[in-house]
Amino acid sequence: MKEIILIKLGELVLKGLNRRVFEDTLIKNISRRLKPLGKFDIRSRQSAVTVTPLEDDVDFDEAVERVSHIFGIATYTRAGVTEKDMEQMKAVTAEYLRRKLLAAKTFKVEAKRSDKKFPLNSPAICAEMGGYLLKRFPNLTVDVHHPDVTVYVEVRDFGVYIHSSPERGAGGIPVGTGGKAAVLISGGIDSPVAAWQIARRGLELTAVHFASPPYTSDRAEQKVVDLLSQVSSYAGRMKMFTVQFAHVQEEIRDKCPEELFTLLMRRFMMRVAQRIAVQEDCLALITGESLGQVASQTLQAICCTDACVSMPVFRPLIGSDKVDIIDTARKIDTFDISIEPYEDCCTVFTPKHPCTRPHVDTLENAEKLLDVESLVDECVRTVSVRTIYPR
Ligand code: ATP
Ligand code: MG
Repeated sequence: MKEIILIKLGELVLKGLNRRVFEDTLIKNISRRLKPLGKFDIRSRQSAVTVTPLEDDVDFDEAVERVSHIFGIATYTRAGVTEKDMEQMKAVTAEYLRRKLLAAKTFKVEAKRSDKKFPLNSPAICAEMGGYLLKRFPNLTVDVHHPDVTVYVEVRDFGVYIHSSPERGAGGIPVGTGGKAAVLISGGIDSPVAAWQIARRGLELTAVHFASPPYTSDRAEQKVVDLLSQVSSYAGRMKMFTVQFAHVQEEIRDKCPEELFTLLMRRFMMRVAQRIAVQEDCLALITGESLGQVASQTLQAICCTDACVSMPVFRPLIGSDKVDIIDTARKIDTFDISIEPYEDCCTVFTPKHPCTRPHVDTLENAEKLLDVESLVDECVRTVSVRTIYPR
């Protein structure tokens, strides 16, 4: 029996004339993710997208898993495909959902007939199918309110699809429909979650990471690669820029007041990230900051960080509690990587008593002790780049 993945679209059905673009992007994103698994026919039909394997030996479980990560999908389900013939529909349902129906005590049938030429209407399909399944599975009774299993029968123009309750998809908007943003990514818990949230709103990502060898190790950088690779299973392939940051940090340490160290460093990060973002056609910067979480994330500190760049800075986690961020990190499988114990450049030279209520003037005065432009130039000139592929 032929099996497909049946996908229902998310918010994009609301988008009027843009809908076509959104659908096409979604189909392109699905194709790209499934291509390594074999040949598939992927098309949008009657407000759904169908994914049909064209080869016998494709890893269908893996295909379903990959689809579950793709943004723009409200729900997805595996479905058995049958002819538009009631007898065949019954036989296929009994076979395709056999295990679920045997394990259940109660069920109901929901039918949808979008092909109005099919001789039975939806209530008649439900009655026929329900009667048949009751006879075929003596363990079952009907419960229309809280059934253990709901059997869906969808009679569409191109065939009939049989499935049980669909799974919730990754939601959001297809990546690539909203332009591009540069995410400042550390090895911590927060920034991968921020990246995921922004990609979910349809933005393509470019990643910028600051490394400080010899104070930070190759392993710390590899951890960021691993994190991004996991994010990329949702956000798609992306470039990662690694900035050599030790020299900037040493200059700040040697020449500026200790309590301003972190903020000055963060302002350098923003400036360098903005330069890379412009080169890469990104229109915004993304960070994993959350209000009040650490000294550099007080309102005053954030105002100071923003003051040195002209691009919009999005902080999707600004109002989130750490526990909520951790819940998301677990859900998207970045948490276990984030808690690996490798140092980040932010933990190098941290001040004992960081300033929590900074003023831009104070920071600008401290920066007069440095050659800001040439330090930023040097970071941009020596940056290295690689491509991150989904895990
Ligand atoms: P995270 O868990 O994302 O590391 P954090 O709570 O540890 O965040 P900070 O270390 O103050 O917070 O960093 C705040 C934000 O600055 C991070 O979310 C990230 O966007 C950016 N950032 C911090 N360190 C780096 C780095 N080494 N490279 C790139 N961006 C960084
Ligand atoms: Mg951090």
